[in-house]
Amino acid sequence: MEKKGRVFSGARPTGRQHLGNYLGAIRNYVALQDEYDCIYCVVDLHALTTLQDTQRLREWTYEMVLDWLAAGIDPERGTIVFVQSHVPQVTELHTILSMIAPLGKLLRLPTYKEKVRQQPENVNYGLLGYPVLMAADIALYKATVVPVGEDQASHLEFTREIVRTFNYHFGPVLVEPQAKYTETPRVLGIDGVNKMSKSLNNHIELASSPEEIYARVHMMVTDPQRQRRSDPGRPEVCNVFSMHKIFTPPEQVKQIDHDCRTAGIGCVECKRIFAGHLIEHLAPFRERRARLSQDPDYVWNVLREGARRASVIASQVIEEVKDAVGLPKRR
Ligand code: SF4
Repeated sequence: MEKKGRVFSGARPTGRQHLGNYLGAIRNYVALQDEYDCIYCVVDLHALTTLQDTQRLREWTYEMVLDWLAAGIDPERGTIVFVQSHVPQVTELHTILSMIAPLGKLLRLPTYKEKVRQQPENVNYGLLGYPVLMAADIALYKATVVPVGEDQASHLEFTREIVRTFNYHFGPVLVEPQAKYTETPRVLGIDGVNKMSKSLNNHIELASSPEEIYARVHMMVTDPQRQRRSDPGRPEVCNVFSMHKIFTPPEQVKQIDHDCRTAGIGCVECKRIFAGHLIEHLAPFRERRARLSQDPDYVWNVLREGARRASVIASQVIEEVKDAVGLPKRR
């Protein structure tokens, strides 16, 4: 089937993935493979902007990519999976684009301001140049489509602007990517208040065993007004119910909605049902993960081949860029 274009997306290496990563990104990554040529990149250089301890980057890269592959990201279908720093042309393009990146604009980006607030003791250049490196990531592969959640829209807009500026000055070399807004539900953690995140330890890992899933789901906060088993509940404020809507068959969701409101079901039972569906949903993932991890080189081989294929595109584009800019050729 003729593909609609080329998708690029990057994610920081964060180790084992959780349900929030899965619902927010990974399942979109998997689905996009049907219609697009996909390039998925582990952006390890980006990770350096905020990490104090970089010694676990290799382990986190391995674990994250293993989860991606187990979830259905499939190099056999032509998808390129690679590590950003393995294709160093991105740093060259970053330097070239930085010469036309408007400093005032970078300083005003809300994400930069937020990072300055979060880590005032380490306001490094990388934080400011982050959107320029991101633009280089995307432009280096002439990606036509970038999946984004609403919160990353300003960064992609910056990429589009810098590509337009480059093409205006140097000719139509780079491709202006289109945003593909993806449905990214705000997945709350088991505390029922904050976004699911490892740092808050409110997450459920995809690679958890059934026992671990039961234990984590059992800890989930429900409707706070439902103090006793006999109190009617409000599914609309309950995070367990939000998860039912994703993982439980619709007929059963309707029944749970009714039973919760009439105190016909207790929260313990309700959670047990959800955990059962989640475990079932993740069973193929767990099996694939176990199988792939039997060969400790598998992930690194996929990444090596991904870098090789990415380099073919990157080498050509960086040459076009240098030529357009007028840098003297090495003879
Ligand atoms: S019965 Fe289910 S939906 Fe209702 S409050 Fe308890 S956990 Fe939430």
